[in-house]
Amino acid sequence: MRHATVRTTPSLRWARTRVWACGAVVLLAGCTAADDPVATPPAAGCPTVERAEPDPDRPVVGLDFRLGDDLRTVTGTESVALTPDLPVEELWFRLIPNAPQSAGHRLTVESVRGDLVAGGGYVDAGAARGTPGGLYRVNLREPVPAGQTVSVELDFRLRLTSERTPAGFDRLGADDGVTWWASGFPLLTWEPGSGWARDPMVEISGETTAAPAADTTIRVSVPDDLVVLMSGDQAEPRDAAGGRRVWESHDPVARDVSVAVGQFDTATVDVRGTRVTAGVLPEADTSADELAEATAEAIGVLEGRFGPFPYPTLTVPLVSDGEDGGGEEYSSSILLGGTDAGLVVHEVAHMWFYGMVGNSQFRDPWLDEAFASFAETVADPHTHEEDLDLRGAVGGSMADFDDQDQYEALVYGKGAAALEAAREAAGEEAFDQAVRCYVETQAWTIARPEDLARALSGLEPALDVLVEAGALDRRDVEAADD
Ligand SMILES: [Zn+2]
Repeated sequence: MRHATVRTTPSLRWARTRVWACGAVVLLAGCTAADDPVATPPAAGCPTVERAEPDPDRPVVGLDFRLGDDLRTVTGTESVALTPDLPVEELWFRLIPNAPQSAGHRLTVESVRGDLVAGGGYVDAGAARGTPGGLYRVNLREPVPAGQTVSVELDFRLRLTSERTPAGFDRLGADDGVTWWASGFPLLTWEPGSGWARDPMVEISGETTAAPAADTTIRVSVPDDLVVLMSGDQAEPRDAAGGRRVWESHDPVARDVSVAVGQFDTATVDVRGTRVTAGVLPEADTSADELAEATAEAIGVLEGRFGPFPYPTLTVPLVSDGEDGGGEEYSSSILLGGTDAGLVVHEVAHMWFYGMVGNSQFRDPWLDEAFASFAETVADPHTHEEDLDLRGAVGGSMADFDDQDQYEALVYGKGAAALEAAREAAGEEAFDQAVRCYVETQAWTIARPEDLARALSGLEPALDVLVEAGALDRRDVEAADD
């Protein structure tokens, strides 16, 4: 995510002009235009940059949402088939709408069933008062060994408020003519190789999930005058009884999903195999065409640094043009509350860092946020240099920061500065190759700092910078050497 207050650049139009100008002088070093072929240099210590395939045994998730005629209530059923790589005795789900930052929204689990299911219950885990809890545990009749599939179904109800929540622009919301819910269902919180991520909710506004890439099918029933923009490759909607329309999509590698429903005007642009669909509300300052073009240009610029865009489709609903601004990354979808150029690039960069290269956003928030902030400098070569001197470590969990300002200064600002300084110390080409190696080898996993350290092995000056900034730990570097 990114708040409006973090690093803003003047306007969407400014970015478009600049990227176009860059294309006209493409021979200048460091200038990467949207039309450039995607470079795939061999990386030192990384013999191949072939992208890793997703785990064939990843979870299979079905989400069936129904937005009520009040446009504030979502009822749904979720099916999950999990084939764990470690034995499990229960299943855990994260109820993100019940986090303090989203206080006012409320997610409840109404029932749970399955051959092995023996009931379930809430666990508080630091949830907002008035909500039933931050985690939901599904009890099993017997332990499930690694490699065996366990299937469950949950019915849930999400109640959205149109009141402002502590987070400001949030992943959940409702306003005139628009309703959106991302993480708006019980989210399977399984980390392959590690187990259940039962981290507490925190007061700081930010993501706290660790969720595996899952083969996900989404179905949404809404009043027939509204347009849906969501995660996954969307099919044409079909009419249903009662003045409704049903929209379906499929994302074979979704960690989490976003759904936005509104009176969207949409525009679609194709950029080297990725279909971008942007949507804006009738009163928006930006047109759908402008937003789709700006997003496509961000994709082009970032592909030049980080490799092919991770998804065949990307939806970009602008759900709020309010003072909060900000954006939230989801699998193959970006919720926008503003359109400043840096924001669009930041959220598009999250498709690589969060979407494809996953991380525990609770344990290692810098792995996606520092990289997404660093990526802003690819399109707009400004520097975060002054943030390198901030006191405090870039690394650490969401529970390690005192407040919102400190979290954003260290993880976004100092994190981006440390990556820039590491790139300078190692040499741009060598660093970019190593990062590319990290991206391709960790695709569709939940990466850890030692995976980055491994990709950077041999680039001691870069590792020294990242250790000095408290991003990497010496132990990460040593673990990478093993
Ligand atoms: Zn972010």
